[in-house]
Amino acid sequence: MKICMIGSGYVGLVSGACFSDFGWDVTCVDKDVAKVESLRAGEVPIYEPGLDELLARNIAAGRLSFTTDVASTVPEADIVFLAVGTPMRRGDGYADLSYVYSAVEEIAPHLRGFTVITTKSTVPVGTSREIERRLRKVNPAADFAVASNPEFLREGSAIQDFTHPDRVLIGCDDERGEAVMRRLYQPLALRNAPIMAVSRESAELAKYAANAFLAMKISFINEIADVCEAVGANVQEVADAVGRDGRIGGKFLHPGPGYGGSCFPKDVSAIIRTAREARAPLSLIEQVQRVNDERKIAMVPRIEAALGGTLDGKSIAVLGVTFKPNTDDMREAPSLTIVPMLQERGAAVRVYDPQGRLHGEEMLPGVTWARDGVDAATDVDAVVILTEWNEFRALDLARLRQVMRGDVMVDLRNIFKGDDAEAAGFRYDSIGRPNAAATGHAAAEEAAE
Ligand code: NAD
Repeated sequence: MKICMIGSGYVGLVSGACFSDFGWDVTCVDKDVAKVESLRAGEVPIYEPGLDELLARNIAAGRLSFTTDVASTVPEADIVFLAVGTPMRRGDGYADLSYVYSAVEEIAPHLRGFTVITTKSTVPVGTSREIERRLRKVNPAADFAVASNPEFLREGSAIQDFTHPDRVLIGCDDERGEAVMRRLYQPLALRNAPIMAVSRESAELAKYAANAFLAMKISFINEIADVCEAVGANVQEVADAVGRDGRIGGKFLHPGPGYGGSCFPKDVSAIIRTAREARAPLSLIEQVQRVNDERKIAMVPRIEAALGGTLDGKSIAVLGVTFKPNTDDMREAPSLTIVPMLQERGAAVRVYDPQGRLHGEEMLPGVTWARDGVDAATDVDAVVILTEWNEFRALDLARLRQVMRGDVMVDLRNIFKGDDAEAAGFRYDSIGRPNAAATGHAAAEEAAE
């Protein structure tokens, strides 16, 4: 089976590499010439654990190639995937479908033989139907079906997620199209992955509903963490107890500075717009979005309070700026809200992130980039943990404290034990835990007044 993957970003590259590893013949297309050239030269343009090895293996086997040329790839393909970005549209919060539709216009004239055009991009309900209409308009004679096959992989564990999915959704109203899609996923079906054939509308909506639910879980535990601080409970004990209920589940019950990333913020925003337009508003999810926006901002007075009520003239080391560990993705990361606010209030910010510098240099102007955690902490008044990279857990707290000018640590990911941090000489603030109640939330509220 021949596959053409339009868009070679986090999703297109991982999906393309995994499909070629199943044995299919995959050509990844991208309009970014530099990206294609670097892929052809054996360089991986994104950080995703295991991806370099997977790409190298399948390139060497002759099953995976890269091009900028749609015209030579699409006619050969049994399936053309659309894996281009669907960012939040400026101004109104809808999904921006301009990349999807321009890819559709580009492929339409080149369809030959029966072809399944499949969206892997996250797209609002009705997009498959609109793609079909546009393809038909440009190429009325073409023989094709349009399917929705949303992707649920997570950056940082993308290959494992792709090859061991909780489910594969195939939304296709055409029997021939569904048969092609089922054949594509046969290697996963043989490993007992649930392959679910649903309507295109259900597939499209399910992806948004899943992300909205996960975002809700994060906002939920963040608010519970606030209650814990107010009443002296420990959010980790609460989350553990709650999460052991099989109906709830323990994942996504980790409090922090609010969710970010390339998916949750834009997908929450898009499903809210879709639902309003359909006159079935999602008031619960609208509140989730508000809670999260406020959450990120609320971290700043919290840090300010930990530093005695002012940031002016203070020096702060921020450890971790990517939206989560094991990725270089900075899109909508909480750091993009928090760091500029620290700077506006007069703080000098030193940053260390194992992978964040490449994109972060442009997105976080005015910060000083450090070589590692200890370098970042040298001569600062406070260390703030923003992303829970594993290497931060291994930091020698005593050494960290020794190189600092001050003694404050604000751990917004709860990666350390309060006792350990205090034993190393820190005044330690974390989220939703008893030691935080004394120095953290109550004080932060006072400072904000
Ligand atoms: P990305 O920005 O990393 O990659 C998109 C790629 O598409 C870019 O390389 C861009 O140059 C290319 N592109 C755009 N228009 C093109 C065209 N006309 N022809 C060829 N290439 C083109 O985006 P991503 O993170 O991979 O996300 C892609 C889609 O998958 C989005 O809809 C996203 O919501 C969804 N998704 C993302 C994730 C994730 O974790 N990143 C997970 C699940 C779903």
